[in-house]
Amino acid sequence: MRAKSLPDSSAATSGAEFLFHELSGYLKPEDISQLQNAYFFSQSAHSGQYRKSGEPYISHPLAVASILGKLHLDTQTLTAALLHDVMEDTHVSKSEISNRFGTAVADLVDGVSKLDKIEFQTHADAQAENFRKMLLAMARDVRVILIKLADRLHNMRTLEAMRPEKRRRTARETMEIYAPIANRLGLNNIYQELQELSFLNLFPTRYRVLTKATKGVRGNRREVLKKILDAIRKCLYEAGLNTKVSGREKQLYSIYKKMVEKHLTFSEIFDIYGFRVVVKDIPSCYIALGALHSLYNPIPGKV
Ligand code: MN
Repeated sequence: MRAKSLPDSSAATSGAEFLFHELSGYLKPEDISQLQNAYFFSQSAHSGQYRKSGEPYISHPLAVASILGKLHLDTQTLTAALLHDVMEDTHVSKSEISNRFGTAVADLVDGVSKLDKIEFQTHADAQAENFRKMLLAMARDVRVILIKLADRLHNMRTLEAMRPEKRRRTARETMEIYAPIANRLGLNNIYQELQELSFLNLFPTRYRVLTKATKGVRGNRREVLKKILDAIRKCLYEAGLNTKVSGREKQLYSIYKKMVEKHLTFSEIFDIYGFRVVVKDIPSCYIALGALHSLYNPIPGKV
């Protein structure tokens, strides 16, 4: 193979530096150097290839590896993430990957490439079929699915470079297949982001309208959220409970789904904030519920 070359874009370089810096927080130096090798290898294999957005192709595997690095995945997974498109899009063979980076990494890359083929062949087929094959692959090595989810997430984040028809198709597939898998694996942040991005690309107008509506209602939302959180914490503390309380704004898609499923207008949706109270046992749970009901009036039929 060719000598290590400099990345062909400063954006990709700083992306790589950032990634390796982040990873050094939990990986050993020899792991980082394997990842650097994989990065250079992938970059030279993809050299001359560009994303639809005009960026050098390497920016994509790099972003996929970063997503997985945030989940603190192991070196083999991250190495495979950096190489996940080389078999598909370049002349690199499985045995070459295996010789350089080991069989485990080669198997992961091969697994991801096979999933891509399934996707490609079965567009017109039933989605359920696709789903089942995904699950089958999942049983063999869940890391293949994790790479695929991160790959899909980055493609969804950069979907605006695509034609409208392709955007819709990718978004529908994400909503029906990938988001549910992320949910099942407990990857809540990825699940929610996939869902929001799918919603945005499937129904851009509804997304915009709903964004505006929630902004209007929330006003200065951070302040409101904090005020409610403080009140809840104080009330539970006074009830003698040791709890963990967190609050968040509900996802646009979950608001939208509720409107559709329950035939509600936006003004009939009350819960644009969600709060979670974690207590140590069941009795405390009822004490907490009682305390909260004395703080805020329950709405009949809503609890
Ligand atoms: Mn990819």
